[in-house]
Amino acid sequence: MHSSVPLIEKYSEFLPVSSGTPVISLGEGFTPLVAATALPAKLGFPGLHLYFKLEGLNPTGSFKDRGMTLAISKAKEAGARAVICASTGNTSASAAAFSAKAGLTCYVLLPAGHVALGKLAQALLYGARVIAVDGNFDCALDLVRSLAEDLNLTVVNSINPFRLEGQKTAAFEIVEQLGKAPDYLFIPVGNAGNISAYWRGFKLFADLGKAGNTPAMCGFEAEGAAAIVAGRPLSHPETVATAIRIGNPASWQEAVRAADESGGSIDSVTDEEILSAYAQIARSEGIFCEPASAASLAGLIKHLKAGKLKGDATVVCVLTGNGLKDPNSALSVCQVQLETVEARPDKLREAMNLQ
Ligand SMILES: *Cc1c(COP(=O)(O)O)cnc(C)c1O
Repeated sequence: MHSSVPLIEKYSEFLPVSSGTPVISLGEGFTPLVAATALPAKLGFPGLHLYFKLEGLNPTGSFKDRGMTLAISKAKEAGARAVICASTGNTSASAAAFSAKAGLTCYVLLPAGHVALGKLAQALLYGARVIAVDGNFDCALDLVRSLAEDLNLTVVNSINPFRLEGQKTAAFEIVEQLGKAPDYLFIPVGNAGNISAYWRGFKLFADLGKAGNTPAMCGFEAEGAAAIVAGRPLSHPETVATAIRIGNPASWQEAVRAADESGGSIDSVTDEEILSAYAQIARSEGIFCEPASAASLAGLIKHLKAGKLKGDATVVCVLTGNGLKDPNSALSVCQVQLETVEARPDKLREAMNLQ
């Protein structure tokens, strides 16, 4: 019988675990790296080697599972009382699932009204104690930090050091899948943990001689939530890409270092650019990601237009989450009113515009 190896076991030599660590796994990681076949030519760069890392195929539908398997395993090892997180949605879905598997209680603080429906549904069904807070993500995270300290709860937001350690495994996989590191990595930036984690992973594999080079790390915030680009925290971040609607990124400094050291940058894309890329990924490549994920392709398009890339570069865009989490965004982009047609061939041919 075939069964997948837990991510923690596959990469144990690079992770802070021992033989005594209980491994809480849901089959995370080992996500496909799919070559784009139509987009390079459509974008006017037919020689571009473009790949999408499909992190939405993780067990709860986002890359958060890579860090959560480790954070929850370590919480279990330490005999945690319960775990807690603030979340724009995907962290809570992941924390709730791994906590259920571990038999731990999970508390979730969500910014009221700004969480995609699928993510809320997940956290609730996995049995987390979900509380909507009258404030944005940054406010919820501040509350989590103080409550956790007072009540002795384990925080599983990306300020938990095990989260980024687990997330760096995505960089290992890309190197193994391509047989080398790409020239560029394009990635959305919210709390800026993921770009920091990828950089740790690429650097480590380069140091060990497992990758010839390291990629330029190109991170993209949403323009209405672009604190790093602005150089100061924002108290009212706004964007349709709710997963990156963050005004004071927790891993700010490490992300800036990743961009600088790698020869990349942190830039921003507008909501319009994000939604356009979101539709293009679906229509040209058959991939349904969530809006925040499309910030990676939107960023690539922006850099291509600005002449910042060589036309034959190898590029990976990280698609961080599954589009099914946020059906409302897809429906609002499509703006189609479904009309019911009489069940007769002639009427259907008329509706299909085929004679
Ligand atoms: C969490 C998340 C991000 C942002 O990642 P950070 O590590 O916070 O920068 C982007 N996209 C999706 C789908 C996410 O869930």
